[in-house]
Amino acid sequence: MAGVTSPKRVLLAKPRGYCAGVDRAVQTVEKALELYGPPVYVRKEIVHNKHVVNTLRNRGAIFVDENEEVPEGSIVVFSAHGVAPEVHEQAKARSLKAIDATCPLVTKVHVEARRFAADDYDILLIGHEGHEEVVGTTGEAPAHIQLVDGPDSVDKVQVRDPSKVVWLSQTTLSVDETMQTVHKLKQRLPLLQSPPSDDICYATQNRQQVVKEIAPECDVMLVVGSKNSSNSVRMVEVAIAAGARAGHLIDFAHEIDEAWVAGAQTVGVSSGASVPEELVMEVLDWLVERGFTDVSEVTTAQERLTFSLPQELKRDMKAAEAARAAAQA
Ligand code: SF4
Repeated sequence: MAGVTSPKRVLLAKPRGYCAGVDRAVQTVEKALELYGPPVYVRKEIVHNKHVVNTLRNRGAIFVDENEEVPEGSIVVFSAHGVAPEVHEQAKARSLKAIDATCPLVTKVHVEARRFAADDYDILLIGHEGHEEVVGTTGEAPAHIQLVDGPDSVDKVQVRDPSKVVWLSQTTLSVDETMQTVHKLKQRLPLLQSPPSDDICYATQNRQQVVKEIAPECDVMLVVGSKNSSNSVRMVEVAIAAGARAGHLIDFAHEIDEAWVAGAQTVGVSSGASVPEELVMEVLDWLVERGFTDVSEVTTAQERLTFSLPQELKRDMKAAEAARAAAQA
């Protein structure tokens, strides 16, 4: 039997893990803790990853659901998923110092929503009901936006003028499923316009693309990511649709069930956009201990994008530096 003599394989997907928006959001909280000292309040999970949230909590971040839970005058960071304009207003009313860590690629969708709403379009927002990003984007123009939660929701869509409709989407969806939804929408609304540029972000697309490429060779695909991480959940779905015999989402290596890999010759490994690399390395160690010693990285794209920290934080960091320099002079 091949499995007895030849080393068992791991195909490690690249790109995987942190995207530019997550990196910026996590750094925002870290720098805010350094600059202002704890506690720093964070509205919602800064990114959808258990390990990241717990690490920041241990360093003095306090995670809350709403601004009302933040003491007046405190510092609050808004998460990478974005917030509705009313959340900024509430923060102002409570005299909170708000630092907005919304990913610039989510902000881009907010700007599109505002622009099409100002032109009196009906906006069909493809996304998952209740997801923070969808709530935030909808808040930009609630009277103009209706949610389309996958192909099965298309029949419910009602528009005022079929010649003035545009679709936008959440940034972390399955590319293929979104196109199915759009296709179905276009059958009902032939004049439906598309967003000016892709709303599904580069990181989501790249992570799905490499998973698709390796999936046909995989007996099982392990995706490191949290259950509330939309892009991570989609990666497991994409892997199975592309031919992986099985797929599992895990937060940590210790969650892997021995039975999942018992008969496997090739295991695919990747991680969602909010997952630190150390968690992937722990999964690789776990697999190596079980004979999966032949590890090859499969690369389908190089990512170089970075985002600078929020302006409001950079301003305060600069002022603190200037004050330090003046004190030393
Ligand atoms: S997944 Fe995409 S939209 Fe979300 S934070 Fe990362 S880069 Fe931004």
